[in-house]
Amino acid sequence: MICIEGATVYAPHPLGKKNIYIAGEKIIGLSDQRPETFFDQVIPAEGLMAIPGLVDLHVHITGGGGEAGMMSRSPELSLETMIQAGVTTVGGLLGTDTVTRSLENLLGKARALREEGVSAVIYTGGYDYPSPTLTGNIRRDIFLIQEVHGVKLSLADHRSSYPQAIEIERLLSDVRVAGMLRNKVLQLHLHIGDEEEKLSALIDIATRRPQLSTHITATHLNRSEAVFEDGLALVRAGGNMDISTGLSSDNLHADTLSADEAVKRYVDLGLPLDQLTLSSDGNGSAAEYNADGTVAAFKISRLDSLLKTFQALVNKGYLSFSDALALVTAQPAKRLGLAYKGKLADNMDADIVLLRKDLSLYGVIARGKLLYQADTYDAG
Ligand SMILES: [Zn+2]
Repeated sequence: MICIEGATVYAPHPLGKKNIYIAGEKIIGLSDQRPETFFDQVIPAEGLMAIPGLVDLHVHITGGGGEAGMMSRSPELSLETMIQAGVTTVGGLLGTDTVTRSLENLLGKARALREEGVSAVIYTGGYDYPSPTLTGNIRRDIFLIQEVHGVKLSLADHRSSYPQAIEIERLLSDVRVAGMLRNKVLQLHLHIGDEEEKLSALIDIATRRPQLSTHITATHLNRSEAVFEDGLALVRAGGNMDISTGLSSDNLHADTLSADEAVKRYVDLGLPLDQLTLSSDGNGSAAEYNADGTVAAFKISRLDSLLKTFQALVNKGYLSFSDALALVTAQPAKRLGLAYKGKLADNMDADIVLLRKDLSLYGVIARGKLLYQADTYDAG
């Protein structure tokens, strides 16, 4: 039993000053009073803020890259990198390379992270189509393998397989039906590249088939002005927008929008916040290409860009603390079909981040265990 004492709690909605009680891996209560119970550990948190552990729905947990040969493979995610970024749950996926990187390896890495104390789920599929699978079939992957919480596909990218609309619709139907069998609303998570067609196929599908539109999440939509504009049209047609915090003009194009500016523009248009999420693209690569197809520049996206973007949204006053927090906790948890993640409430998983007043990281509790605490207690 752990008691976090006296933190100002954001669930993400503000709850004021509370004690948070944890038993095993679960939150068992939030209260003003300290109950007559023996606690193994009391964490003094007066002056600190308690928020749900961040949920990052797009992370290359086994590494990505490979566009400039095998020496350009990016490294796999470490537990330490996750903790230092305040992230307690990741959605792991494959990148460009589905030859030397496998779904079996991805599943193994997700299980390793779980054994280390954090939480990880994965997407089946990859950049290419027909989709790589674990069982030979997307529906069976989703139903039979507990960790599979969605499907990845790439579109409008020179590294994609240029799937036809009918093939995308079939994948959406697979995601929908297999999700139903698990009583979850899951996503076809679509990497969007720079090609001319952009999101046209997705906007058309979302418009023609409203029941499938809620299963569409398109990501990297801040990669350029043109892609972002198409993303707004997708949201208006019922699809979901994901902004990559690891992308910025210094690691992609001159007209790449920083994640916080993209969120501000979305908010200023009055579009529904519950169709928007942020993710880091952590440990993935962003490559810029020469005209002859060779790689000109190559950067690795950072997982801690998620927390940094949340801090920027709050510090710049673009969103309220709670609304900014929902973009990196409750909403990505919902998108991943994780009913017990992303919120601080009774019976939710005890994934809690403690922040100082300046929003810097003070402590991380994942699945009921204190995995990190700053050396000195100060509220910032
Ligand atoms: Zn990626």
